[in-house]
Amino acid sequence: MSEPLIDMRKAASSYRRRAEKHFKEAQALLDIEQRNTGLYACLQLRLCIEALMYAMLALYHAELNKSGIRKWQPKRVMDELLAIDPHVEASSTMSIQDESTGDWVQIGSKDHRLTASWTVKAHNALGNALHTPTLGNLIDDIEELDIRYKERARKYLPELAEVFASTTFNSYFLGQNRQFNCKCGAKIIRREDRIKSASVMTCWNCARIWDIVWEGEDVSIAPHRVSYDCPRCASKNGFQEIEMTENFKIKCHKCGLEGQVSKPLQIAFEADAVEGESPK
Ligand SMILES: [Zn+2]
Ligand SMILES: [Zn+2]
Repeated sequence: MSEPLIDMRKAASSYRRRAEKHFKEAQALLDIEQRNTGLYACLQLRLCIEALMYAMLALYHAELNKSGIRKWQPKRVMDELLAIDPHVEASSTMSIQDESTGDWVQIGSKDHRLTASWTVKAHNALGNALHTPTLGNLIDDIEELDIRYKERARKYLPELAEVFASTTFNSYFLGQNRQFNCKCGAKIIRREDRIKSASVMTCWNCARIWDIVWEGEDVSIAPHRVSYDCPRCASKNGFQEIEMTENFKIKCHKCGLEGQVSKPLQIAFEADAVEGESPK
């Protein structure tokens, strides 16, 4: 069974709001003159960065496969997105042309994007605060730890402040692309350059595998077929991978040998098959 589809546009907006909430909580923690709030500020900023990453995943969801959409570490998320769109970390502005003057007029503000290198560095550095002080800290610098964590959180605030200063956000530009409908109801999108070099693709929602079938410039998808040789009579057999959303039984078309297919792709045959007994 495939899981129910979620509204990814809504998910992207909700992650953005969640990120902003974490950002404001970090700001508030840094504003108060209280000891031992540094690590909480670092934690809030880390959660903020993660939420921004997941908003991006939601924007690009139709271009991802099932494992891609489940990435959670910022570095892995950015690697995944950069492989799809090299411009994903570039801040963008939107302009419209004034018909009377021919001038381009910017509408909204810049959509400020975090770069992969900044994101990974910030997420790691903020994560250093999320530990119990070591014995080494007790000996060397326990008094300064909180100050150091606060400094660290302050260091990464301005870049995130720019993100939230943008009134334009979650912009998503898609060049030439092909779109398909999976059996589960999900839309799958592949950019032209990417689909040309692939022979199969996986649905982000249900993980069905589809063969990419070209006919001239037209492209369609067909359920991916798995072939196997029967261990008893050596006949060629095949089945559609699409059936693999559940464990299921297969049967050799020639000798009738039954097998059970389970995930990850594994076929168990009836016990007598490999003993070389004659077909029933
Ligand atoms: Zn699907
Ligand atoms: Zn057979």
